[in-house]
Amino acid sequence: GEAIVLKDIWFHYNGTPILEEVNLVVKEHDFLAIIGPNGGGKSTLLKVILGLIKPSRGTVTVFGETPRKARKLIGYVPQYSLIDLNFPISVWEVVLMGCLSHIGLLKRYDEDDKEKALDALKIVDMFDYKDRQIGSLSGGQRQRVFIARALAADPKLLLLDEPAAGVDIIRQEEFYELLEKLKEKMAIVIVSHDISAVSVHVDKIACLNRKLYYHNSKELLPEDLE
Ligand code: ADP
Ligand code: ADP
Repeated sequence: GEAIVLKDIWFHYNGTPILEEVNLVVKEHDFLAIIGPNGGGKSTLLKVILGLIKPSRGTVTVFGETPRKARKLIGYVPQYSLIDLNFPISVWEVVLMGCLSHIGLLKRYDEDDKEKALDALKIVDMFDYKDRQIGSLSGGQRQRVFIARALAADPKLLLLDEPAAGVDIIRQEEFYELLEKLKEKMAIVIVSHDISAVSVHVDKIACLNRKLYYHNSKELLPEDLE
C-alpha cells in the first residue's frame, strides 16, 4: 500500500513560491530522507502532509485519505520540540500528550492511555527515565522521548523534521538503529539539511529545493508520471 501520495503540489506564501510541482509516493515500509538546503521547503512539505497547511494546488493522500482523516495514523516529531525545559513535567507526561493529541488535551486520560505512553517509552529504551523531569535529560535522551510521544498513538507513518540536529555522532548512530527497528512497523520520512548524516541509513533519498528531485528512485514518482 501507499502511505503518502503527493500529486502536483504547489505552495506559495504571499506570492512567493515555496513548493512547485512536487510529486511523491511513499510506500508502507519506506524509509525516506528528504534532504535540501535551509529554506528549501522541507518543513512546509511535512506540514502539507500533516494537513496543517493546505497546498495552493495539488492533492495529498495519506493511506488513501485526506491528511485530516489520516491524522491519527501520523506520528510527527517537529523540528524544535518546543517545550520549556524548566516546565515541571515528567517524561511519561510528555509522552502521554501524544496519546491525547487526537482526542483533545482537555479530555481526561485513562489507564489505557498511560499504558500506551509507557509502552512507547519502552520502545525507545527510556522507560527507566519515566519519572524524570524532561528538563533534566540530555539532548539525545529528550529526542528519544519526543519520538516516544510521536509513537504513543501507534502511527503507521512517522515524520521527523531535522531529528538529528543537536545530537552528537555516537547518539546519532543509536538513533538510526532505533529507526531501523521502527521501520518494520511503519513508513518513515526524515527531513534533513545534512545529507552525510542520513545517506548511509535510509533506503531512499529525494532532494527538495522548491522542486523535488529524485536520486535514482523512480519508484518515488506516482505511476502515471514515471
Ligand atoms: P526548510 O524546512 O527546508 O528549511 P521551510 O519549509 O521552513 O524550509 O521554509 C521554506 C521557505 O518558506 C523559507 O524561505 C521560509 O522563509 C518561508 N516560510 C516559512 N514559513 C513562512 C511563513 N509563515 N510566512 C512566510 N514565509 C514562510
Ligand atoms: P546535553 O549536552 O547532551 O544536553 P546535559 O549537559 O544537559 O547534556 O546533561 C548531561 C547529563 O546530566 C545528562 O545525562 C543529564 O541526564 C544529566 N542532567 C542534566 N541536568 C540534570 C538535572 N537537573 N537533574 C538530573 N540530571 C541532570
